[in-house]
Amino acid sequence: MSPVGRQDRVLLLGLAAAVFVMLWGPIRFLLNLTRQVEETSGLNLLPALLILTLFFLFHQRGKRQESQSQVASAEAEASQAHSRAAEMERLAMFGQALGHSLDAEAIRDIVAQHLPKLVATDDAWVMMRLDGYWKALTGASRDDRRELIADRVLVPGVESSEGTPVSIEGHLCLPLVAAGHALGVLGVPDTAGPFTESRQRVLRATATLLGISLRNAELFREVKENSLRDGLTGCFNRTHALEVVGIELRRARRSQLPVSLVMFDLDHFKAINDRYGHQCGDTVLSAVGAKMRELLRGSDMKGRYGGEEFIVLLPETPLEGAKRVAENLRRELAAMPIQWKGETIHITASFGVTVAQASEIDTEALVGRADQALYRAKAEGRNCVRLSIETAAA
Ligand code: GH3
Ligand code: MG
Ligand code: MG
Repeated sequence: MSPVGRQDRVLLLGLAAAVFVMLWGPIRFLLNLTRQVEETSGLNLLPALLILTLFFLFHQRGKRQESQSQVASAEAEASQAHSRAAEMERLAMFGQALGHSLDAEAIRDIVAQHLPKLVATDDAWVMMRLDGYWKALTGASRDDRRELIADRVLVPGVESSEGTPVSIEGHLCLPLVAAGHALGVLGVPDTAGPFTESRQRVLRATATLLGISLRNAELFREVKENSLRDGLTGCFNRTHALEVVGIELRRARRSQLPVSLVMFDLDHFKAINDRYGHQCGDTVLSAVGAKMRELLRGSDMKGRYGGEEFIVLLPETPLEGAKRVAENLRRELAAMPIQWKGETIHITASFGVTVAQASEIDTEALVGRADQALYRAKAEGRNCVRLSIETAAA
C-alpha cells in the first residue's frame, strides 16, 4: 500500500501550484537568465534540463514499482509462512493425539476430530484393513464403494510401495503404510479439491502419521493377544479364558440368550508322552488346537484349561447345540491321524457339556458342572460326551 493516498496527492498538487504561482517572479527571472546564457554560449540548456527531468521521473517510477513488488512478495511470503506454521501446528496436534491412542476406537475419535481441519473438508474418509476385511474409520461402518476403491489402492504384492497418492474414481487416495505394512487408505473426493501443493503435503503427512499409529495399534493388539494365548495350541490361556467366560455370562444375562460350556480332556495322554516322548505330546496338543480352530466358530472362545484339558464357550448356543458341537469335535478328533516320526498316532477325548442357567454369572459353578460331566464321561468309558446332571434334569 502506498504511503501517499489519493487525497494527499491532490493536496500536494495544489501545494505545488501555489508555490509555483508564489515563486513565478523568481522563476521568470531564472528562465530569462537561462535564455540569455543560451544565446551568449550557444548551449541548449532548457531542452537538456527537460530530458534530464523526464528520465529522472521515469527512473523514480521504476524504483517505486520495484519496491512495491518487493513489499508484495514479502507480504505473500509472510502469509505463506503463517499458513505453514498453522499447518504444522495442526499436524503436531494430530500426531500428539495419535501418540496417546493404542486402539482403533481411540484412533477413530481422533480422526473424526482432526481430519476435517487437516484436509479442509468434511468428505475425507479412512478405511482400515483388519484381518483381511475393510473397516471404516470414518462415517458408516460399511461402504461398498469405498471398499472397492481401497482394494484398488492396496494391491497385494505392491503393498509395501511408498505412500504415493493415486487418483481413483474421482477420489485422491493415499495408502496408509508403515514399515512396509499396508494398513489402510485415506481418500478425499475430487469435489473437495483443488489439491494445491501445500494441501497435498498435509495429506501426505496425515497419511504417514495415521499409518504409523494404525501399525502401533496393530502391534499392540498382537502383543496383547499373544500374552493372552497359549503358544502351543493357539487357545486363550486359563486366566484369560476364565475372564472371557465371566464376561460372556454377564452378556448372556443382559441379552437373555443361552450360553454353553464344553470341557474336554484327552484320553490316556500320559501314555502318548510315555511312549513317544514329550515332543510328540506337544505335536498332538498343537494338532488339537488347529482342529478346534478349524471346526469351531471364530466367536466361540477356545481356552486351554490345563495340560491336555480344554474349554470352549459357545455364545448364543443352547444345550442341544453345544452337545452337537461336542459330538462333532469328539468324532473329528478321533478320526484325526497325527504323524510322528513315520508313525500315525490316533487320539480320543472325553467331553462334559453344560449350559448357563437363567441369569447365572458364577464362572466357577459353570466350569464345575462341565468338569463333573467330563468326569462321568471318563468314568463311563472315555471317548464320549456327557451332559451335566443338573443341566440334563432341567
Ligand atoms: P485320562 O484319560 O484319565 O485323562 O488320562 P491321561 O493320561 O490323559 O491323564 P493324566 O492326567 O494322568 O495325564 C495328563 C498328562 O498330560 C500328564 C502330563 O505329562 C501331560 N501334559 C500336560 N501338559 C503337557 C504339555 O504341555 N505337553 C506335553 N507333552 N504333555 C503334557
Ligand atoms: Mg487326559
Ligand atoms: Mg487332564
